[in-house]
Amino acid sequence: MATLLRLTDHGLYCEAGDFHVDPWGAVPRAVVTHAHGDHVAWGCGSYLTTTSGLPPLRARLDRDARIRALAYGEAIVINGVRVSLHPAGHILGSAQVRMEYQGEVWVVSGDYKIDPDPTCAAFEPVRCHTFVTESTFGLPIYRWPPQQEVFAEINAWWRANQRAGKATLLFAYALGKAQRLLAGLDPSLGPIFTHGAVERMTQAYLAAGVQLPLTTHAATVERGADWSQALVLAPPSADGSPWTRRFGNQATGFASGWMLVRGARRRGALDRGFALSDHVDWPGLMAAIDATGASRIWVTHGYSSVVVRWLRERGLEAHLVQTRFEGERDDEERDADAAVASPEYP
Ligand SMILES: [Zn+2]
Ligand SMILES: [Zn+2]
Repeated sequence: MATLLRLTDHGLYCEAGDFHVDPWGAVPRAVVTHAHGDHVAWGCGSYLTTTSGLPPLRARLDRDARIRALAYGEAIVINGVRVSLHPAGHILGSAQVRMEYQGEVWVVSGDYKIDPDPTCAAFEPVRCHTFVTESTFGLPIYRWPPQQEVFAEINAWWRANQRAGKATLLFAYALGKAQRLLAGLDPSLGPIFTHGAVERMTQAYLAAGVQLPLTTHAATVERGADWSQALVLAPPSADGSPWTRRFGNQATGFASGWMLVRGARRRGALDRGFALSDHVDWPGLMAAIDATGASRIWVTHGYSSVVVRWLRERGLEAHLVQTRFEGERDDEERDADAAVASPEYP
């Protein structure tokens, strides 16, 4: 079986096509699954993304970065390799990369989830010979509760905070999770405000035509305002920062898949954790792998060794592929970067 991709110092490289997928550093040609910090390197000669992924990617990169966009399912040929992008259901514009060369089909999943999300196109299984899958939550303990229950819990918590006269500070990754939360919040409860990093990405979503409740950038509100009825969406990096002082008496919560496991609740000061993830859980991961029909699986980005062992026991050819980063944990780091790098959005 031909090896269409191999792992290099700069990440996954397609030799026949002479391009990288989600490279770790500056390369001539980058095919990007989505705009999260652990999938995008600065300084590449050119970038290929989806049409809906263009606004968030543009928000991450230099203004003069060369970005080409494809509609989902549209194909181009790069040095003889047929490349197309297919919905991954992770965040706005997120894609699986399908590569076909001399009859061999490879798919790189990027980050993905199966659960429906009104802020992005639904995950689409793509048949292939080799599937390169993420495994951020690749342990059998990870099974997501129904998201309607999580949203109901968040809205109930917001109401309880209002009754107690406290501002509601909800921390979530600025790109993707924050907008998915927005779509699940009940805007009839009160006003919704954003931290600058969230505001910037929310604007990118609006630019791509996603419908979201009205929000106000918190920095535009005068000092001394009453925040007791408000919900404020901010990146995890803002938790405990001087920026939060303006909201006075407050309750804090964090929405992330890591909140499913109590031990993952870092920063003990948080009042609440909500288990909401933009990655597949264990049953979703296994179902997605099955649906590809692939006989060879490369596992990356998370609890890879557990997933590899599991797949091998089921008779599949599975390999562990190292990554530089570990999924959502790093989006968080990059949120901090984004907040620092955009002084216009404090
Ligand atoms: Zn991601
Ligand atoms: Zn990731």
